[in-house]
Amino acid sequence: MGGHSDIVLIDKNGIRLDGRKADELRPIKIEAGVLKRADGSAYVVWGNNMVLAAVYGPREAHPRHVQNSNRAIVQAKYNMAAFSVGDRKRPGPDRRSVEISKIISEALEAVTMTELFPRATIDVYMEVLQANAGTRCAAITAASVAMADAGIPMRGLVTGCAAGKAGDKVILDLGQEEDNFGQADVPLAIVPRTGEVVLLQMDGHLTQEEFDEAFRLATEAAVNVVYPLQVEALKRKYAGSTEDIEEGITNGGLANSVINETPSEVNADEIVEELASREEKVALEDMDDGKQGGEQ
Ligand code: ADP
Repeated sequence: MGGHSDIVLIDKNGIRLDGRKADELRPIKIEAGVLKRADGSAYVVWGNNMVLAAVYGPREAHPRHVQNSNRAIVQAKYNMAAFSVGDRKRPGPDRRSVEISKIISEALEAVTMTELFPRATIDVYMEVLQANAGTRCAAITAASVAMADAGIPMRGLVTGCAAGKAGDKVILDLGQEEDNFGQADVPLAIVPRTGEVVLLQMDGHLTQEEFDEAFRLATEAAVNVVYPLQVEALKRKYAGSTEDIEEGITNGGLANSVINETPSEVNADEIVEELASREEKVALEDMDDGKQGGEQ
């Protein structure tokens, strides 16, 4: 964040380096059920990000001391492949991926009906195959589709999206250069169905007005664009046979989160208004987790 003001991130016509307007998302594709071995899976291509998510469980948690006798735990693991970035990334967990795993675990746990599975774990693996900024949003978006595909009962899908500031403008869905040389990044994840915010971070500096605008851009895009793509991906997979749909319903997850749900029932304006009107709106966590990728 910050620095390098010699790079023109937005031209005089308001067009960004990759040709997008300020409020435009990168192209997104979502596919559900791409892996045979996993209980549920999803693949998300988000601009030049590529993320694969796999879900196992609910199954007995090991070692036993991690078990909760009242409910299931959700253990999400975010990992970047060594070949996912320009320079080879040192394999294995680093401070950044441990942090991302933790916040995604908490976000997914917030929507999961964990009380149905005492002592169990739901393991969610996210592998970033190609990274180009915004991978945590792509990863959580993939993860919740994979959980629905696994039949995990949830109160709704979780949808990630980021907005921020670069070239002195508030913009949606920062690309790599905008993230590196921009002024702020606000990744968030919401539950379109309930209007809950389950993840919100901010890196850099924004005025209150700029933050509100970034929050509005990311929320609207999540609800109006990304969320319908998640629902469609699940419907595509389960439209194959009614048996599959019934199986999904019996499992519980799809019944509640997808099959009976149409994205048009969710109104972005209402959610944004509702959120804006809440007094204690959100707890901001100002994180500085080594953006430039040099410190790992
Ligand atoms: P996010 O991917 O969620 O936006 P960051 O803001 O931390 O997370 O990272 C932005 C981008 O920086 C990543 O998507 C990736 O392209 C790049 N990046 C992150 N960590 C590294 C690393 N260790 N080496 C090289 N590039 C990295």
